[in-house]
Amino acid sequence: MNYINKTDNEVAQIIEEELKRQENTIELIASENIASKAVMEAAGTVLTNKYAEGKPYKRFYNGCDFVDKIETIAVERVKQLFGVEHANVQPHSGAQANMAVFFYALKHGDTVLSMDLSNGGHLSHGSPVNFSGMYFNIVSYGVNEYGEIDYDNVEKLAIENKPKMIICGASNYSKIIDFKRFKEIADKVGAYLMADIAHIAGLVAGGVHPSPVGYADFITTTTHKSLRGPRGGIIMCSNEHAAGIDKAVFPGIQGGPLEHIIAAKAVALKEALQPDFKDYAKQIVKNAKALAQSLMEENIDIVGNGTENHVMTIDLRKTGKTGKDTANLLEKIGITANKNTVPNDPLSPFVTSGVRIGTPAVTTRGFKEDDMIEIGKIIASAITVWDNEDALKNLRERTQKLCNKYPLYKD
Ligand SMILES: *Cc1c(COP(=O)(O)O)cnc(C)c1O
Repeated sequence: MNYINKTDNEVAQIIEEELKRQENTIELIASENIASKAVMEAAGTVLTNKYAEGKPYKRFYNGCDFVDKIETIAVERVKQLFGVEHANVQPHSGAQANMAVFFYALKHGDTVLSMDLSNGGHLSHGSPVNFSGMYFNIVSYGVNEYGEIDYDNVEKLAIENKPKMIICGASNYSKIIDFKRFKEIADKVGAYLMADIAHIAGLVAGGVHPSPVGYADFITTTTHKSLRGPRGGIIMCSNEHAAGIDKAVFPGIQGGPLEHIIAAKAVALKEALQPDFKDYAKQIVKNAKALAQSLMEENIDIVGNGTENHVMTIDLRKTGKTGKDTANLLEKIGITANKNTVPNDPLSPFVTSGVRIGTPAVTTRGFKEDDMIEIGKIIASAITVWDNEDALKNLRERTQKLCNKYPLYKD
């Protein structure tokens, strides 16, 4: 912070405060993670100065020799990590990656079958407030009371509505996704299959969740969730769609790529290719299972009675508390999580009856199963004691102890 301190003390101080917040809270937001210092260093380089519209070695600007090399390395690492034929590493975010696929694969007004937002889907899969929901005819599938996709129902909806594209992959889904079954359904009605692995990319890369490669026509992801890179997106596909997807990203929906972020993606991808990333991915799932178990032993309901991946939803209905109030309460005791709807939630998405929690970030910090058991007890206790300030103070001390045990960055 040497330079910002000199030129802009105001912003520098707030960044310092944010660092302290991250150090002193337990991050259970399932879509967040803690990027390595190497990833952050790459993101803060002179590459931010460079315009590089176009693809490596086919740019619209001069002076691209070095960014060409970097972007090529990033692309090759995606291909190696996920075993795909083609990758585009330019999408600025997961939503941009999805937009590019829509732009390439669909025409205005085409039908898309995707998971409903309040059932765990993502805004960019056709929510009425997103461009995807405004320009396309969206048919939604949801989950049953156990939080599982009803594949027979997806098939029925596909046959009835003949979508041009089916989307699988979610922002809040705690079961393994059956990509093969989705592919069979898509084939039956001649639809494209898009798999959005934004949340589970690190689990797929680490081999603890099946891969959609070989089933999905288009695979999109973010790079900053379980993959633990900089904020950004990636699209993967077969050679058949390569040129079309690249054109959809640029010039279709984006201008100049963020080469500093692409360098950071390359660094994160190299980290994900190391053998210890597999251990990390395994530990994410072990930690999630331990946390779910601990909460259920403390008499807290979990949608679907557990989790098979990195995420789960606390179902608060029997407690009489709302997701909104509970997430705010947890923040008070040093745990960050977000309110989320549960299946058939009687409350609105602004209030909700659930809280979504996930383990990628705490696993990066080094938390193990025992720590997750302690977190489960702390959360259950908070929901019980509620507004007893002394009890909450004690819980805050317990979360601080865990934070002190595992520093955000070791050096
Ligand atoms: C997070 C997420 C996205 C969007 O990512 P942004 O980088 O926030 O645009 C897209 N799809 C799914 C399933 C996600 O969970």
